[in-house]
Amino acid sequence: MELSSTARRYLEIVQGLAPELEELSDRVEAEVHDIAAREDPVSQRIYELVIGNDLHRLTLPREWGGQGLSTADYFPVLEEVAGINGALRMVVHGANGMWRLVDQYGTDAQKQHWLPRMAEGDTVTFGLTEPDNGTGRDISTSAVRDGDTWIINGRKWLISFATSAKMIHLLAATGNDERGRTLTCFLLPQGTPGVTAEPLPPTMGCRGASHEILTLEDVRLPQDAVLGEVDAGLDLGLRGFLDVSRLGIAGSALGIARRSLALATEFARQRVTFGRPIATRQAVRLALAEMASDTYALQAAVRDACARFDRGESIEGEAAMCKLLGIEIVGRVTDRALRLHGGIGYTEAHRIERLYRDARALWFEEGTAEIQKLVVGSAVASGRLTL
Ligand SMILES: Cc1cc2nc3c(=O)[nH]c(=O)nc-3n(C[C@H](O)[C@H](O)[C@H](O)COP(=O)(O)OP(=O)(O)OC[C@H]3O[C@@H](n4cnc5c(N)ncnc54)[C@H](O)[C@@H]3O)c2cc1C
Repeated sequence: MELSSTARRYLEIVQGLAPELEELSDRVEAEVHDIAAREDPVSQRIYELVIGNDLHRLTLPREWGGQGLSTADYFPVLEEVAGINGALRMVVHGANGMWRLVDQYGTDAQKQHWLPRMAEGDTVTFGLTEPDNGTGRDISTSAVRDGDTWIINGRKWLISFATSAKMIHLLAATGNDERGRTLTCFLLPQGTPGVTAEPLPPTMGCRGASHEILTLEDVRLPQDAVLGEVDAGLDLGLRGFLDVSRLGIAGSALGIARRSLALATEFARQRVTFGRPIATRQAVRLALAEMASDTYALQAAVRDACARFDRGESIEGEAAMCKLLGIEIVGRVTDRALRLHGGIGYTEAHRIERLYRDARALWFEEGTAEIQKLVVGSAVASGRLTL
Protein backbone atom coordinates (compact mmCIF):
# COMPACT_ATOMS: atom_id res chain seq x y z
CA MET A 1 0.00 0.00 0.00
CA GLU A 2 1.30 3.43 -0.98
CA LEU A 3 1.71 5.77 2.02
CA SER A 4 1.96 9.54 1.83
CA SER A 5 5.39 11.05 2.43
CA THR A 6 4.18 12.46 5.79
CA ALA A 7 3.02 9.03 6.94
CA ARG A 8 6.30 7.47 5.80
CA ARG A 9 8.22 10.09 7.76
CA TYR A 10 6.32 9.31 10.98
CA LEU A 11 6.70 5.59 10.41
CA GLU A 12 10.46 6.11 10.18
CA ILE A 13 10.39 8.27 13.34
CA VAL A 14 8.68 5.46 15.28
CA GLN A 15 11.05 2.85 13.87
CA GLY A 16 14.00 5.05 14.87
CA LEU A 17 12.59 5.48 18.37
CA ALA A 18 12.07 1.75 18.87
CA PRO A 19 15.27 1.07 20.88
CA GLU A 20 14.58 4.00 23.24
CA LEU A 21 10.98 2.88 23.65
CA GLU A 22 11.99 -0.69 24.35
CA GLU A 23 14.39 0.52 27.01
CA LEU A 24 11.68 2.72 28.52
CA SER A 25 9.31 -0.25 28.54
CA ASP A 26 11.81 -2.27 30.52
CA ARG A 27 12.05 0.50 33.11
CA VAL A 28 8.27 0.77 33.30
CA GLU A 29 7.99 -2.96 33.93
CA ALA A 30 10.54 -2.70 36.71
CA GLU A 31 8.89 0.30 38.34
CA VAL A 32 5.24 -0.59 38.08
CA HIS A 33 4.94 -2.09 41.53
CA ASP A 34 7.01 0.67 43.11
CA ILE A 35 4.67 3.16 44.79
CA ALA A 36 7.22 6.01 44.69
CA ALA A 37 7.66 5.53 40.95
CA ARG A 38 3.90 5.54 40.50
CA GLU A 39 3.73 8.96 42.15
CA ASP A 40 6.12 10.15 39.45
CA PRO A 41 4.13 8.45 36.70
CA VAL A 42 6.13 6.73 34.04
CA SER A 43 3.26 7.55 31.72
CA GLN A 44 4.55 11.12 31.90
CA ARG A 45 7.79 10.03 30.21
CA ILE A 46 5.91 8.05 27.60
CA TYR A 47 3.66 11.02 27.05
CA GLU A 48 6.67 13.32 26.60
CA LEU A 49 8.04 10.98 23.94
CA VAL A 50 4.73 11.10 22.10
CA ILE A 51 4.48 14.90 22.22
CA GLY A 52 8.18 15.41 21.53
CA ASN A 53 7.86 13.43 18.33
CA ASP A 54 4.53 14.91 17.29
CA LEU A 55 2.75 11.57 17.39
CA HIS A 56 -0.28 13.07 19.17
CA ARG A 57 -1.55 15.16 16.25
CA LEU A 58 -1.24 12.91 13.24
CA THR A 59 -4.95 12.83 12.38
CA LEU A 60 -6.06 16.20 13.81
CA PRO A 61 -7.08 18.44 10.86
CA ARG A 62 -4.47 20.90 9.63
CA GLU A 63 -6.71 23.88 10.37
CA TRP A 64 -6.34 23.04 14.08
CA GLY A 65 -2.61 22.44 13.98
CA GLY A 66 -2.53 18.73 13.16
CA GLN A 67 -1.08 16.72 10.26
CA GLY A 68 -4.50 15.78 8.91
CA LEU A 69 -3.53 12.20 8.03
CA SER A 70 -6.25 9.90 6.70
CA THR A 71 -6.79 6.67 8.63
CA ALA A 72 -5.17 4.77 5.72
CA ASP A 73 -2.02 6.83 6.32
CA TYR A 74 -2.20 6.91 10.10
CA PHE A 75 -2.85 3.24 10.82
CA PRO A 76 0.57 1.91 9.75
CA VAL A 77 2.13 4.31 12.28
CA LEU A 78 -0.31 3.20 15.02
CA GLU A 79 0.37 -0.46 14.19
CA GLU A 80 4.13 0.07 14.48
CA VAL A 81 3.68 1.80 17.84
CA ALA A 82 1.40 -1.01 19.10
CA GLY A 83 4.07 -3.59 18.30
CA ILE A 84 6.57 -1.70 20.48
CA ASN A 85 4.79 -0.58 23.63
CA GLY A 86 1.20 -0.88 24.86
CA ALA A 87 1.11 2.27 27.01
CA LEU A 88 2.57 4.35 24.20
CA ARG A 89 -0.05 2.88 21.89
CA MET A 90 -2.80 3.96 24.32
CA VAL A 91 -1.56 7.56 24.35
CA VAL A 92 -1.21 7.71 20.54
CA HIS A 93 -4.56 5.99 19.97
CA GLY A 94 -6.39 8.30 22.40
CA ALA A 95 -4.84 11.53 21.14
CA ASN A 96 -5.49 10.71 17.48
CA GLY A 97 -9.12 9.80 18.04
CA MET A 98 -10.48 11.88 20.85
CA TRP A 99 -10.41 15.24 19.01
CA ARG A 100 -13.19 13.97 16.73
CA LEU A 101 -15.92 14.59 19.31
CA VAL A 102 -15.30 18.31 19.78
CA ASP A 103 -14.52 18.75 16.08
CA GLN A 104 -17.84 17.19 15.03
CA TYR A 105 -20.20 18.28 17.79
CA GLY A 106 -18.55 21.26 19.48
CA THR A 107 -19.71 24.87 19.31
CA ASP A 108 -17.30 27.34 17.73
CA ALA A 109 -16.21 28.39 21.23
CA GLN A 110 -15.59 24.77 22.31
CA LYS A 111 -13.57 24.11 19.15
CA GLN A 112 -11.53 27.30 19.53
CA HIS A 113 -10.83 26.43 23.14
CA TRP A 114 -9.97 22.71 22.94
CA LEU A 115 -8.67 21.82 19.49
CA PRO A 116 -5.59 24.11 19.43
CA ARG A 117 -4.77 22.85 22.95
CA MET A 118 -4.96 19.26 21.72
CA ALA A 119 -2.53 20.19 18.94
CA GLU A 120 -0.18 21.56 21.60
CA GLY A 121 -0.30 18.27 23.49
CA ASP A 122 -3.14 18.56 26.00
CA THR A 123 -4.58 15.06 26.30
CA VAL A 124 -8.28 14.41 26.79
CA THR A 125 -10.07 11.23 27.74
CA PHE A 126 -13.51 9.59 27.75
CA GLY A 127 -15.48 8.68 30.87
CA LEU A 128 -18.25 6.16 30.36
CA THR A 129 -17.57 2.92 32.28
CA GLU A 130 -18.89 2.56 35.83
CA PRO A 131 -18.30 0.16 38.73
CA ASP A 132 -21.89 -0.25 39.84
CA ASN A 133 -23.71 -1.16 36.62
CA GLY A 134 -23.31 -1.81 32.89
CA THR A 135 -22.20 0.72 30.30
CA GLY A 136 -24.22 2.62 27.68
CA ARG A 137 -27.77 3.31 28.78
CA ASP A 138 -27.23 1.41 32.02
CA ILE A 139 -24.98 4.05 33.64
CA SER A 140 -26.11 5.65 36.89
CA THR A 141 -23.95 8.81 36.98
CA SER A 142 -26.58 11.53 36.69
CA ALA A 143 -26.62 15.19 35.70
CA VAL A 144 -29.49 17.36 36.92
CA ARG A 145 -30.17 20.85 35.66
CA ASP A 146 -30.16 23.61 38.27
CA GLY A 147 -30.83 26.98 36.62
CA ASP A 148 -27.88 27.67 34.31
CA THR A 149 -25.75 24.85 35.66
CA TRP A 150 -25.72 21.07 35.82
CA ILE A 151 -25.05 19.10 39.01
CA ILE A 152 -23.35 15.77 38.44
CA ASN A 153 -23.07 12.85 40.85
CA GLY A 154 -21.76 9.33 40.33
CA ARG A 155 -18.75 7.05 39.95
CA LYS A 156 -16.63 6.00 36.98
CA TRP A 157 -13.77 3.57 36.73
CA LEU A 158 -11.16 2.30 34.30
CA ILE A 159 -10.89 5.83 32.90
CA SER A 160 -7.53 5.98 31.12
CA PHE A 161 -5.24 8.91 31.97
CA ALA A 162 -8.05 10.51 34.03
CA THR A 163 -5.62 12.38 36.28
CA SER A 164 -3.25 13.59 33.56
CA ALA A 165 -5.88 14.48 30.93
CA LYS A 166 -6.79 18.14 30.72
CA MET A 167 -10.42 17.30 30.01
CA ILE A 168 -12.77 14.31 30.28
CA HIS A 169 -15.70 13.71 27.94
CA LEU A 170 -18.03 12.62 30.71
CA LEU A 171 -21.21 10.72 29.95
CA ALA A 172 -24.05 11.20 32.46
CA ALA A 173 -27.73 10.23 32.46
CA THR A 174 -29.99 13.24 31.95
CA GLY A 175 -33.39 11.77 31.08
CA ASN A 176 -35.41 8.88 29.70
CA ASP A 177 -36.97 7.91 26.40
CA GLU A 178 -38.77 4.80 25.12
CA ARG A 179 -35.45 2.87 25.01
CA GLY A 180 -34.38 3.70 28.56
CA ARG A 181 -32.00 6.33 29.97
CA THR A 182 -30.74 9.13 27.76
CA LEU A 183 -27.20 10.40 28.18
CA THR A 184 -25.49 13.74 27.72
CA CYS A 185 -21.80 14.35 27.06
CA PHE A 186 -20.12 16.99 29.24
CA LEU A 187 -16.68 18.52 28.78
CA LEU A 188 -15.26 18.22 32.30
CA PRO A 189 -12.00 20.19 32.73
CA GLN A 190 -9.27 18.78 35.00
CA GLY A 191 -9.38 20.36 38.45
CA THR A 192 -13.14 20.89 38.57
CA PRO A 193 -14.23 20.98 42.25
CA GLY A 194 -16.08 17.85 43.44
CA VAL A 195 -14.07 15.37 41.35
CA THR A 196 -11.71 13.01 43.17
CA ALA A 197 -9.56 10.33 41.58
CA GLU A 198 -7.91 7.22 42.96
CA PRO A 199 -5.66 4.89 41.03
CA LEU A 200 -6.61 1.34 40.12
CA PRO A 201 -4.13 -1.47 40.85
CA PRO A 202 -1.42 -2.06 38.20
CA THR A 203 -2.70 -3.59 35.00
CA MET A 204 -1.64 -6.90 33.45
CA GLY A 205 -0.06 -5.21 30.42
CA CYS A 206 0.27 -1.79 28.75
CA ARG A 207 2.26 -0.75 31.81
CA GLY A 208 2.95 2.92 32.24
CA ALA A 209 -0.60 3.83 31.26
CA SER A 210 -2.77 4.87 34.20
CA HIS A 211 -6.45 4.14 34.78
CA GLU A 212 -8.42 5.71 37.57
CA ILE A 213 -11.63 5.58 39.58
CA LEU A 214 -13.45 8.91 39.59
CA THR A 215 -15.96 10.02 42.19
CA LEU A 216 -18.16 12.98 41.29
CA GLU A 217 -19.89 14.71 44.17
CA ASP A 218 -22.15 17.67 43.39
CA VAL A 219 -19.89 18.66 40.51
CA ARG A 220 -21.22 21.86 38.93
CA LEU A 221 -20.74 22.52 35.23
CA PRO A 222 -22.07 25.44 33.18
CA GLN A 223 -24.47 24.97 30.28
CA ASP A 224 -21.65 25.56 27.78
CA ALA A 225 -19.89 22.42 29.04
CA VAL A 226 -22.53 20.34 27.23
CA LEU A 227 -21.16 18.83 24.01
CA GLY A 228 -23.80 18.50 21.30
CA GLU A 229 -27.45 18.10 22.23
CA VAL A 230 -28.73 17.27 25.69
CA ASP A 231 -29.87 13.59 25.80
CA ALA A 232 -27.95 12.78 22.58
CA GLY A 233 -24.66 11.83 24.26
CA LEU A 234 -24.77 8.12 23.53
CA ASP A 235 -25.18 8.48 19.76
CA LEU A 236 -22.58 11.25 19.78
CA GLY A 237 -20.10 8.96 21.53
CA LEU A 238 -20.89 5.97 19.35
CA ARG A 239 -20.86 7.58 15.94
CA GLY A 240 -18.53 10.51 16.66
CA PHE A 241 -15.67 8.51 17.99
CA LEU A 242 -16.29 4.91 18.95
CA ASP A 243 -16.56 3.38 15.46
CA VAL A 244 -13.19 4.68 14.28
CA SER A 245 -11.75 4.04 17.73
CA ARG A 246 -12.85 0.39 17.54
CA LEU A 247 -11.08 0.22 14.22
CA GLY A 248 -8.01 1.64 15.97
CA ILE A 249 -8.15 -1.27 18.43
CA ALA A 250 -8.22 -3.65 15.47
CA GLY A 251 -5.21 -1.80 13.98
CA SER A 252 -3.43 -2.14 17.32
CA ALA A 253 -4.19 -5.88 17.30
CA LEU A 254 -2.74 -6.04 13.80
CA GLY A 255 0.48 -4.31 14.93
CA ILE A 256 0.91 -6.68 17.88
CA ALA A 257 0.15 -9.74 15.74
CA ARG A 258 2.66 -8.67 13.08
CA ARG A 259 5.42 -8.06 15.63
CA SER A 260 4.66 -11.34 17.41
CA LEU A 261 4.92 -13.24 14.13
CA ALA A 262 8.26 -11.51 13.38
CA LEU A 263 9.61 -12.34 16.85
CA ALA A 264 8.45 -15.96 16.64
CA THR A 265 9.98 -16.37 13.17
CA GLU A 266 13.30 -14.91 14.27
CA PHE A 267 13.33 -17.12 17.36
CA ALA A 268 12.42 -20.24 15.37
CA ARG A 269 15.31 -19.62 12.97
CA GLN A 270 17.78 -19.40 15.85
CA ARG A 271 16.55 -22.00 18.32
CA VAL A 272 18.23 -25.32 17.64
CA THR A 273 16.84 -28.60 18.98
CA PHE A 274 17.94 -32.07 17.95
CA GLY A 275 20.63 -30.46 15.80
CA ARG A 276 18.40 -28.27 13.62
CA PRO A 277 16.68 -24.87 13.92
CA ILE A 278 13.04 -25.45 14.90
CA ALA A 279 12.02 -23.31 11.87
CA THR A 280 12.97 -26.29 9.68
CA ARG A 281 10.34 -28.51 11.37
CA GLN A 282 7.06 -28.95 9.59
CA ALA A 283 4.97 -28.52 12.77
CA VAL A 284 6.60 -25.14 13.42
CA ARG A 285 6.07 -24.03 9.81
CA LEU A 286 2.40 -24.96 10.06
CA ALA A 287 2.12 -22.73 13.12
CA LEU A 288 3.89 -19.86 11.33
CA ALA A 289 1.60 -20.34 8.33
CA GLU A 290 -1.52 -20.09 10.48
CA MET A 291 -0.18 -16.98 12.25
CA ALA A 292 0.71 -15.34 8.93
CA SER A 293 -2.68 -16.16 7.37
CA ASP A 294 -4.54 -14.77 10.39
CA THR A 295 -2.46 -11.58 10.33
CA TYR A 296 -2.95 -11.15 6.59
CA ALA A 297 -6.75 -11.53 6.90
CA LEU A 298 -6.85 -8.97 9.70
CA GLN A 299 -4.70 -6.57 7.68
CA ALA A 300 -7.04 -6.86 4.68
CA ALA A 301 -10.12 -6.22 6.83
CA VAL A 302 -8.54 -3.23 8.60
CA ARG A 303 -7.31 -1.69 5.33
CA ASP A 304 -10.78 -2.08 3.77
CA ALA A 305 -12.53 -0.45 6.75
CA CYS A 306 -10.00 2.43 6.75
CA ALA A 307 -10.67 3.05 3.06
CA ARG A 308 -14.43 3.07 3.71
CA PHE A 309 -14.02 5.49 6.62
CA ASP A 310 -11.78 7.78 4.54
CA ARG A 311 -14.46 7.81 1.81
CA GLY A 312 -16.94 9.08 4.41
CA GLU A 313 -18.96 5.85 4.67
CA SER A 314 -20.50 4.62 7.93
CA ILE A 315 -18.32 1.83 9.36
CA GLU A 316 -20.52 0.86 12.30
CA GLY A 317 -20.61 -2.83 11.31
CA GLU A 318 -17.15 -2.99 9.74
CA ALA A 319 -15.45 -1.43 12.79
CA ALA A 320 -17.14 -3.87 15.16
CA MET A 321 -16.26 -6.82 12.88
CA CYS A 322 -12.63 -5.66 12.68
CA LYS A 323 -12.41 -5.30 16.45
CA LEU A 324 -13.91 -8.77 16.90
CA LEU A 325 -11.56 -10.31 14.33
CA GLY A 326 -8.66 -8.33 15.79
CA ILE A 327 -8.96 -9.65 19.34
CA GLU A 328 -9.56 -13.23 18.21
CA ILE A 329 -6.59 -13.12 15.82
CA VAL A 330 -4.16 -11.32 18.12
CA GLY A 331 -5.16 -13.81 20.83
CA ARG A 332 -4.31 -16.77 18.61
CA VAL A 333 -1.12 -15.21 17.22
CA THR A 334 0.38 -14.04 20.53
CA ASP A 335 -0.47 -17.40 22.09
CA ARG A 336 1.18 -19.29 19.24
CA ALA A 337 4.21 -16.98 19.29
CA LEU A 338 4.66 -17.46 23.02
CA ARG A 339 4.43 -21.25 22.67
CA LEU A 340 7.00 -21.25 19.86
CA HIS A 341 9.45 -19.53 22.19
CA GLY A 342 9.22 -22.50 24.54
CA GLY A 343 9.51 -22.01 28.30
CA ILE A 344 11.95 -19.11 28.03
CA GLY A 345 9.18 -17.12 26.28
CA TYR A 346 7.26 -17.19 29.55
CA THR A 347 10.03 -15.12 31.16
CA GLU A 348 10.75 -11.43 30.68
CA ALA A 349 13.84 -12.43 28.69
CA HIS A 350 11.76 -12.20 25.52
CA ARG A 351 9.54 -9.42 24.17
CA ILE A 352 6.76 -11.85 23.41
CA GLU A 353 5.95 -12.08 27.11
CA ARG A 354 5.09 -8.37 27.17
CA LEU A 355 3.26 -8.34 23.85
CA TYR A 356 1.10 -11.24 25.04
CA ARG A 357 0.07 -9.18 28.10
CA ASP A 358 -0.30 -5.89 26.18
CA ALA A 359 -2.66 -7.59 23.73
CA ARG A 360 -5.12 -8.59 26.46
CA ALA A 361 -6.20 -4.96 27.02
CA LEU A 362 -7.65 -4.92 23.52
CA TRP A 363 -10.41 -7.31 24.61
CA PHE A 364 -11.93 -4.56 26.74
CA GLU A 365 -11.08 -1.21 25.18
CA GLU A 366 -14.07 0.13 23.20
CA GLY A 367 -16.24 -2.80 24.26
CA THR A 368 -16.02 -6.55 24.67
CA ALA A 369 -16.43 -9.21 21.97
CA GLU A 370 -20.03 -9.75 23.06
CA ILE A 371 -20.83 -6.07 22.54
CA GLN A 372 -19.22 -6.13 19.06
CA LYS A 373 -21.38 -9.15 18.20
CA LEU A 374 -24.50 -7.32 19.37
CA VAL A 375 -23.58 -4.36 17.09
CA VAL A 376 -22.84 -6.58 14.07
CA GLY A 377 -25.85 -8.82 14.67
CA SER A 378 -28.21 -5.89 14.88
CA ALA A 379 -26.72 -4.27 11.74
CA VAL A 380 -27.04 -7.55 9.79
CA ALA A 381 -30.56 -8.35 11.05
CA SER A 382 -31.84 -4.87 10.21
CA GLY A 383 -30.30 -4.90 6.72
CA ARG A 384 -27.90 -2.01 7.47
CA LEU A 385 -24.96 -4.35 6.87
CA THR A 386 -24.71 -6.59 3.81
CA LEU A 387 -21.56 -8.15 2.40
C1 LIG B 1 -7.02 -0.98 29.64
C2 LIG B 1 -8.42 -0.44 29.68
C3 LIG B 1 -8.65 0.89 29.39
C4 LIG B 1 -9.96 1.40 29.46
N1 LIG B 1 -10.18 2.74 29.25
C5 LIG B 1 -11.44 3.24 29.39
C6 LIG B 1 -11.69 4.66 29.28
O1 LIG B 1 -10.76 5.44 29.04
N2 LIG B 1 -12.95 5.12 29.43
C7 LIG B 1 -13.99 4.28 29.71
O2 LIG B 1 -15.12 4.77 29.84
N3 LIG B 1 -13.80 2.93 29.85
C8 LIG B 1 -12.54 2.41 29.71
N4 LIG B 1 -12.32 1.06 29.87
C9 LIG B 1 -13.44 0.20 30.21
C10 LIG B 1 -13.88 -0.71 29.07
O3 LIG B 1 -14.49 0.05 28.04
C11 LIG B 1 -14.86 -1.72 29.69
O4 LIG B 1 -14.09 -2.53 30.59
C12 LIG B 1 -15.54 -2.59 28.68
O5 LIG B 1 -16.39 -1.84 27.83
C13 LIG B 1 -16.40 -3.67 29.37
O6 LIG B 1 -17.28 -3.07 30.29
P1 LIG B 1 -17.26 -3.55 31.81
O7 LIG B 1 -15.86 -3.59 32.30
O8 LIG B 1 -18.22 -2.69 32.56
O9 LIG B 1 -17.76 -5.03 31.73
P2 LIG B 1 -19.20 -5.59 32.07
O10 LIG B 1 -20.23 -4.78 31.35
O11 LIG B 1 -19.33 -5.74 33.54
O12 LIG B 1 -19.14 -7.01 31.38
C14 LIG B 1 -18.63 -8.19 32.01
C15 LIG B 1 -18.85 -9.34 31.03
O13 LIG B 1 -20.24 -9.51 30.77
C16 LIG B 1 -20.53 -9.35 29.39
N5 LIG B 1 -21.78 -8.57 29.24
C17 LIG B 1 -22.13 -7.44 29.91
N6 LIG B 1 -23.33 -7.02 29.51
C18 LIG B 1 -23.75 -7.87 28.56
C19 LIG B 1 -24.92 -7.96 27.75
N7 LIG B 1 -25.89 -7.05 27.84
N8 LIG B 1 -25.01 -8.97 26.86
C20 LIG B 1 -24.02 -9.90 26.77
N9 LIG B 1 -22.91 -9.88 27.50
C21 LIG B 1 -22.76 -8.87 28.39
C22 LIG B 1 -19.35 -8.57 28.82
O14 LIG B 1 -19.17 -8.82 27.44
C23 LIG B 1 -18.19 -9.08 29.67
O15 LIG B 1 -17.70 -10.28 29.14
C24 LIG B 1 -11.03 0.53 29.80
C25 LIG B 1 -10.78 -0.82 30.06
C26 LIG B 1 -9.49 -1.30 30.04
C27 LIG B 1 -9.24 -2.75 30.37
